[in-house]
Amino acid sequence: MFVANGNYLKLPGDYLFSTVASKIAAYCEEHPEKAAGIVRLGIGDVTQPLAPSVIRALHKAVDEMADASTFRGYAPDLGYDFLREAIVAHDFTAHGALVSPEEVFVSDGAKSDSANIQEIFAADSRIAVCDPVYPVYVDSNVMAGRTGTYDKATGLWSDVTYMPCTCENGFAPDLPDPDAGISLIYLCFPNNPTGAVIDKPHLQAWVDYANEHGAVIIYDAAYEAYISDPSLPHSIYECEGARSCAIEIRSFSKSAGFTGTRLGYTVVPSDLKDAQGTSMRDLWARRHGTKFNGAPYIVQRAGEAVYSPEGQSETAAQIAYYMENARIILSGLREAGYEVSGGENAPYIWLKTPAGLSSWDFFDSLLDTVQVVGTPGSGFGPSGQGYFRLTAFGSRESALEAVRRIKLM
Ligand SMILES: *Cc1c(COP(=O)(O)O)cnc(C)c1O
Repeated sequence: MFVANGNYLKLPGDYLFSTVASKIAAYCEEHPEKAAGIVRLGIGDVTQPLAPSVIRALHKAVDEMADASTFRGYAPDLGYDFLREAIVAHDFTAHGALVSPEEVFVSDGAKSDSANIQEIFAADSRIAVCDPVYPVYVDSNVMAGRTGTYDKATGLWSDVTYMPCTCENGFAPDLPDPDAGISLIYLCFPNNPTGAVIDKPHLQAWVDYANEHGAVIIYDAAYEAYISDPSLPHSIYECEGARSCAIEIRSFSKSAGFTGTRLGYTVVPSDLKDAQGTSMRDLWARRHGTKFNGAPYIVQRAGEAVYSPEGQSETAAQIAYYMENARIILSGLREAGYEVSGGENAPYIWLKTPAGLSSWDFFDSLLDTVQVVGTPGSGFGPSGQGYFRLTAFGSRESALEAVRRIKLM
């Protein structure tokens, strides 16, 4: 008789968004007259349509697929040169970071890359993650059998090093104890869920730590486009020595509204070598070639259009729209007396629940009294307890209305 992969059975249920959905459904059942008026600031998905220049590129590429002389089949393993060259020029060279097109692997998004990247490391590699955290990093390592046993009471895995991010440390994790023997460090800045950012000296300290202790940083920069403070690093490769210790993951989802279109990329520098001198770039190329057959030509052309002058100004306007929502939510909540952070270089606002309420109690009270929905911080990890996430991805009306109502509480 066949046997399922036991590692999958260790995964705790994905209770966060399903519990949110069932609580909203129960509330609507009980108060049907209020159902239509619920304001949703829990969504982690964009709402603005694709930019006109992206749509034009999509249409043009579709027409090319209809003609035998311009039709394209399988894409090159690493992605089309036109896209990888645009990526290198705009995302790295322009920021003074050294990355070459052979180190850029175009993919269908950052979720799959951030889940899959662990495959090229030894099964007994110890991982370190921020707490709270984007759940994909931990769950993908659970599936790989790397995380030990789960403690239901604490919500922690025995073989994972957690780096708490709370208001006490400004939502910036401390460097782990070198004796912990960590091989893989997952960092995400600007951060989901806290909206926190990292400045260059602090990011440099992580790079120095990783080089000194033989660790690799998996740097998720999915929200890089939301950085407005010119002093903040957009790429980890702006730090000295990052090419020998860091992998960077990017996405077109939040920067250009590609959540339903699917496009991302991962940079694995050729200088990244393991203890035996194995090129991790070559391993990732091998993995990519075996398990992935490329992002669609049509979508890669759409990605290229994001880097055109029109694409840059149109996507910048989308981000400005979301960030005006963030400003409205952030300042409104501050005026209402809440302790809030994030929301300045990230589309997430992270608030401390009032009067020591648990994250879920605050969720219930917000839904019951003013019909506003957000995401309980405890769903992202134990250190998220007592915090709450609001997103700026909704409409202007919903941001204004949510603030108006929260002020009535
Ligand atoms: C949204 C998000 C991504 C992007 O994922 P895609 O698969 O590219 O849509 C990656 N990392 C984090 C932390 C995110 O919040």
